[in-house]
Amino acid sequence: MLNKNGNIQNFLGLNASYADARIVLIGAPFDGTTSNRPGTRFAPAAMRGESAYGIESYSPYQDKDLTRDSKVYDAGDLVLPKGFPALALDVIEESVSQIIEDGKMPLMIGGEHLVTLGAVRAIAKKNPGLCIIHLDAHADMRDEFFGESLSHATVMRRCYDILGDGRIFQFGIRSGGREEFVLPASQVFQQKFRISELGAIAKKLGGAPVYFSLDLDVLDPSVLPGTGTPEAGGISFEDLFAGFLCLRGVNIVGCDIVELAPNLDASGVSTATACKLLRELILVLSPGFVAGSAAGSAAGSAADSARESPAKERDLPDISDMPAVLRGEIKSLKSKGLANEEIARSLKLPKAAVDLVLELEPPG
Ligand code: MN
Ligand code: MN
Repeated sequence: MLNKNGNIQNFLGLNASYADARIVLIGAPFDGTTSNRPGTRFAPAAMRGESAYGIESYSPYQDKDLTRDSKVYDAGDLVLPKGFPALALDVIEESVSQIIEDGKMPLMIGGEHLVTLGAVRAIAKKNPGLCIIHLDAHADMRDEFFGESLSHATVMRRCYDILGDGRIFQFGIRSGGREEFVLPASQVFQQKFRISELGAIAKKLGGAPVYFSLDLDVLDPSVLPGTGTPEAGGISFEDLFAGFLCLRGVNIVGCDIVELAPNLDASGVSTATACKLLRELILVLSPGFVAGSAAGSAAGSAADSARESPAKERDLPDISDMPAVLRGEIKSLKSKGLANEEIARSLKLPKAAVDLVLELEPPG
């Protein structure tokens, strides 16, 4: 059952109401198929606790603030039956279905990686042509694991069964059975070891609906040791943040952060790092750009200036960072008959930005 009525403890105090929220956060505390060291079931609660004291709402990387620039409702944790993966997936699928039917973006904190399957089942039903951007040390493409078809080691294979060829894009992969590394590129795109091709792939995806799944063990264990199956030779925090920036402009329809096991890192650094990544991810998925100013921070502007922006030539606001979900909201309000000025007021956007979106992408 999805809780739409508010919570006692929210991630970073984010307190938009369900009705106002653009993003709905849910915890999926399930680690029933973990093959090595369990503990991911404790991640959502640990991240909320850590976020209360250990992290700022302001991001100097993106010059945005969660409390000002995002509209997130934290629905708390789903009640998932321990030891019953199929039932747990049903609960996740039902809750994510409710979120997308209400026109909001689900953002799930695992839990082990299997929880992704419940969300993808719900989202694929409503989004034909759904693609997945998958960051992980592991391919998770086994057909079965210890005889089980539902496992955190098979989750991307089960997603592939739903989505088919050419829809899954994996990055950072450095562990798995040999058979997981020889899949034809026409079936599954796979970049081994690094995530540097993410930007090029993100551009190729165009406006296709995308689910973004981040298995935190893609990071090097020196950065994030608190995970069930650590794999040496991973990427850095900076690599991953650069990858996030590549998601700007991608039509993200849902996402998750999975496989943090807070109990496996007594220092607490892993939980703090996961919180910081979640803050940055939410901000990448939120608008918060300023009309007429050089949009983006020092980190973002390198990527921005690489793009030729026709808006700049005409001295118009830069809408290149505006998430697809927000552009969709503008168009949907327009098709309901609202004037551009009313749309700008209701979405707290500069009117010039609304004008430009509707000029470039007329509704209908
Ligand atoms: Mn995984
Ligand atoms: Mn993994």
